[in-house]
Amino acid sequence: MHRLETHPTFVKNVQIGGQNKVVIQTMGTIPPKEKEKALEEIITCANAGAELFRMSVLDELDAKAFAFLSANSPIPLIADIHFDFKLAILAIENGASKIRINPGNIGSLDAINKIIETAKKYGVPIRIGVNSGSLKKKASLENPITANDLIKECAEMVKIFEDRQFHDIVLSLKGSNIMETIEAYRLASKTFPYPLHIGITEAGIKEVGLIRSAAGLSPLLLDGIGDTIRISLSESPVEEVKACKRLLHDLNLYDNYPTFISCPTCGRTEVNLIPMAHRVSDFLETIHKPIKVAIMGCIVNGPGEARGVHLGLAGGKKHWALFKDGKVIATLNEDEAFERLKKEIIDYKI
Ligand code: SF4
Repeated sequence: MHRLETHPTFVKNVQIGGQNKVVIQTMGTIPPKEKEKALEEIITCANAGAELFRMSVLDELDAKAFAFLSANSPIPLIADIHFDFKLAILAIENGASKIRINPGNIGSLDAINKIIETAKKYGVPIRIGVNSGSLKKKASLENPITANDLIKECAEMVKIFEDRQFHDIVLSLKGSNIMETIEAYRLASKTFPYPLHIGITEAGIKEVGLIRSAAGLSPLLLDGIGDTIRISLSESPVEEVKACKRLLHDLNLYDNYPTFISCPTCGRTEVNLIPMAHRVSDFLETIHKPIKVAIMGCIVNGPGEARGVHLGLAGGKKHWALFKDGKVIATLNEDEAFERLKKEIIDYKI
């Protein structure tokens, strides 16, 4: 899929923008100052597929912890700063590879200037996050915040950075609802040459947030908009990373990832399909090849409905038929089926 061309920006060795790829990021739940625990969370997320990891910086201890964390993290770290420009400077000096600020709450122009100077000195990009809740314009029922308001304020911020010859910028926009956010990103992609960080913040618990994020982000991704992505969920950050991978994969924007399908079950199902589907889906998270696997409830329609997959199981009377490239190669009981499928998945040559 063709991505809209944006100015490439480097977060240490990770490129955002200017390429046909959407970089996956998530945000930690452990304060940076709890160094060992925080590092564990970073490593878990990196192993799950996160390419960037953002952390809230609330005080000096958090900012200084970036020295330890950046030296030990397998992926670049982003410091998320609100209100106190000194923390942004301290985080950069201690090894943060990117910072995220909302200039609307950072304060004076002088404070923003000081951040820019430090970022320039250390070669660190800055994400400017513009949020409908912290615009200069105050919304009312008669005069709500619009996508144009977000773009106008974003343009004022961008000008401050450009006037200081600072172009290592990533932009994000948060409207008060999904439609406004989509419109704002579409306008931003036409207005600014800079990479866009896309996400629907405050998306909700997993069941709600996944749908809301897919609803909000898919139209943008299909338009070629979005250079880095976070799917916010009231869940562990690993779930956010998995969600990013799945969404990007379904839109042909993430390679070497398995495709998994399972049937919705019906009156013909005579096996414990749902637990089997979960086991297989969890196992496939550990596989890095574009294999297609199906778990179907019946042998009558299963393999036919799962046409095009490499491997699959179709349920019969308390047993499973294992099919490979459309042909049944074994009949297995409940206990054997999962282990045998696992082996076939590992051995399958794409
Ligand atoms: S594959 Fe079989 S069990 Fe599953 S929904 Fe289709 S007909 Fe029903």
